Amino acid sequence: MLKTHDCGELRSDHIGEQVTLAGWVNRRRDHGGVTFIDLRDRSGIAQIVANPEISPEAHETAVEIRNEWVLQIEGVVRRRPEGMVNPDLPSGEIEVETQKIVVLNPAKTPPFAINEETEVDEMVRLKYRYLDLRRERMKGNLELRHKVIKYIRDFLSDRDFWEVETPILFKTTPEGARDYLVPSRVHPGEFFALPQSPQQLKQLLMVAGVERYFQIARCFRDEDQRGDRQPEFTQLDLEMSFVDREDVMALSEELFTTMVEKLLPERKLMHKPWPRLTYSEALERFGRDAPDIRFGLELKDVTDLAVESGFQVFEKVVEKGGEVRGLNVKGSGSFSRKEIEKLTAFVSQFGAKGLAYLALDEKGEHRSSFAKFFAEDRIKALLQRLEAEPGDLLLFVADKPAVVFESLGRLRVHLGERLGLLDPKILAFAWVIDFPFVGWNEDEKRWDPSHHLFTAPMPEDLSWVDSDPGKARGQQYDMVLNGLEVGGGSIRIHDRELQEKVFALIGLEPDVAQERFGHMLEAFEYGTPPHGGIAPGIDRLVRVFAGEDHIREVIAFPKNQAARDVMADAPSPAEPNQLKELHLRVVDEE
Ligand code: ASP
Repeated sequence: MLKTHDCGELRSDHIGEQVTLAGWVNRRRDHGGVTFIDLRDRSGIAQIVANPEISPEAHETAVEIRNEWVLQIEGVVRRRPEGMVNPDLPSGEIEVETQKIVVLNPAKTPPFAINEETEVDEMVRLKYRYLDLRRERMKGNLELRHKVIKYIRDFLSDRDFWEVETPILFKTTPEGARDYLVPSRVHPGEFFALPQSPQQLKQLLMVAGVERYFQIARCFRDEDQRGDRQPEFTQLDLEMSFVDREDVMALSEELFTTMVEKLLPERKLMHKPWPRLTYSEALERFGRDAPDIRFGLELKDVTDLAVESGFQVFEKVVEKGGEVRGLNVKGSGSFSRKEIEKLTAFVSQFGAKGLAYLALDEKGEHRSSFAKFFAEDRIKALLQRLEAEPGDLLLFVADKPAVVFESLGRLRVHLGERLGLLDPKILAFAWVIDFPFVGWNEDEKRWDPSHHLFTAPMPEDLSWVDSDPGKARGQQYDMVLNGLEVGGGSIRIHDRELQEKVFALIGLEPDVAQERFGHMLEAFEYGTPPHGGIAPGIDRLVRVFAGEDHIREVIAFPKNQAARDVMADAPSPAEPNQLKELHLRVVDEE
């Protein structure tokens, strides 16, 4: 090793020891003829003193060096003089008086400061990611991610899980996105698909008798880069045989509860055990199937009160099968008209045609966009239903159920943020269960699986699959954390006949099903154990644990919003001879 100690490990116990350190110049300053260097390695910082009276050569080098140069330093650890102790640094009691400095590698001035947390344009950070990762915050995120993955590996290994790698070059494994394709050189005109998840492979491992499998698995989905997504991301992929959904949920809950207690003692787990919401309860109360349950502000159904209320807007919506639901924004009765207009513009992004309001002042008098049309007793009933008190603001959306849920669900979180109700210290995990088995795809006039093709329906709903598929529930469970879906799983179909029925239900012609998934159907004929699993998203979990707003912040080398690697400049055109070997021709679409 080029060093005997890490910079951050030196303490007063080391006083008097001769040490060799190696690292980056975090900062250099000259003071009273002596040069001080903060030398940084991954472990932290050590203060180096170069005194011309002790070593003129070392001092000569010290005045030359600049931030981010890589140095090797020999010296003796000593106590810092009185008044120079820095209680903010773990190694703040000591310093290293150097006799020799070797420049291992000089450095250009970096495009942004490494030694402070300044705001830097993200494109620049991504282009120089290797410098960005040197910064304290990013280093912390990488370390946390490592600890999370190590915790998972230890926890599951202790419970008899085997980590098994599955191929990246495979066949389509759809999870609702487009596939990334890889052309085959040896099989002209044929392509591998990168797995959107190892779903089929982990099920086949169950057929193989592995019983308890996990993998820190890379998944590839060629989706539009809206929101918090990356073309490749990492899941803890997990599958178990001879289980029901309770077993998978209990194991996952124990894994993440104990992980948080061990790795994030400063965060507060809101619930233990985690609450369980049915899909319809999640929608009814929070407007979303991945609810943020750190705060109240729940939706209330007032559809019945809108019927024959005198307010035509509401009445017409209800006549057409729509709904009216509202929120009570406690203590916000003083919101101005302008502020309410802004909220109206906010919900209009999600299809709401308006936002009706009723604001109560401190005396309980109201101002409202609709109350004058409403029968007096109905107003009273509305106030009661929403548990309104003086000073509250009531907001209502009337529309198709999907629009009401989406707009009020989003508005709820928007208001929660604005009113400071989203405590970042709190980690609120929850389960959402009893999802519909399939949803009607109006554009394509067919059923889509709510989860994926391999999820089993609830045993008691099997007959619905034939007679009225929209009524069947799936054996799916979603793991939610602070309003984000952080994982989903299910008990799977393990029987050829039912799997074929589901393929047919979602409109896969038998020959297409056979061509794509024939290996699964065949495997199900060779003794398949009942099985199920889950796949929590590592990036999303670590993002919330790290208090970051985007998964890019917890991925070492992410793509940018436009799905490009701006550091290596990828993707990039292939050489003509590579294309030829791959039997490909690039056609200009113009
Ligand atoms: N493969 C699923 C997904 O990626 C997870 C699972 O069902 O285990 O969402």
